[in-house]
Amino acid sequence: MNLLLFAPGECTAGGHLRLTDRRATHLRQVLQAKPGDEVQVGAIGGGIGRGIITAIDRHSVELRVTLSSPPPPKLPVTLLLALPRPKMLRRILRAAAEFGAAEIHLLNSFRVEKSYWQTPVLAPATVRDYLLQGLEQARDTLLPPVHLHTRFKPFVEDQLPGLLAGRDALLAHPGDAPLAPTGLERDTVLVVGPEGGFIPYEVEKLLAAGCRQVSLGPRILRVENAVAALLGRAI
Ligand code: SAM
Repeated sequence: MNLLLFAPGECTAGGHLRLTDRRATHLRQVLQAKPGDEVQVGAIGGGIGRGIITAIDRHSVELRVTLSSPPPPKLPVTLLLALPRPKMLRRILRAAAEFGAAEIHLLNSFRVEKSYWQTPVLAPATVRDYLLQGLEQARDTLLPPVHLHTRFKPFVEDQLPGLLAGRDALLAHPGDAPLAPTGLERDTVLVVGPEGGFIPYEVEKLLAAGCRQVSLGPRILRVENAVAALLGRAI
């Protein structure tokens, strides 16, 4: 835990924060914190700063919190991802938040198994939990909004044009295409397919909507590695 995150409502106006959950356990057991110790803290949706531990016992940890700076900037990236299997989804949510993706869209596609849409991982509280793990790692406080699109065609025809307005759009799809660019400065939508890849009809629709095909080299990467490679190149 590189940043102790708390919801703004957990902290008093005077900066007093009392923790009794896994964060308190982590401070006690992993960091072996004691009164006077300092930890980096962040208010979810707000600033980051420092917390001085003022009291600690078996049940709780109390801190005096001062927020002094904004969180790091996000990447100018919206991730549009065919819904992956739940186990991979968890890791991707964490990684996307860690890299600083500004927004995440999860999309249906022909090769997305229908059952994936029923996974408990998609429950808002669970999505939030995985995103928070990524933010804690990266010392960020801003949760990227996550949107679900359970129908490919209506999304691509009716909503994607609005999403792409004023943005570049790169479709990662294996094949003969330029390598994905590095150091993105313009707002960009990065599109990643399902484990079996987008079918030709879907590729056509995405290209027709304004996406440009890019490659990640001759190796076919797992979805989670393709996402990490694209986000890593975007930095
Ligand atoms: N057999 C599938 C195909 O040819 O599309 C492979 C799909 S790959 C496991 C899953 C997704 O990761 C792809 O849809 C694409 O978005 C991305 N991806 C993986 N390797 C890639 C590469 N070398 N170039 C571009 N995109 C890649």
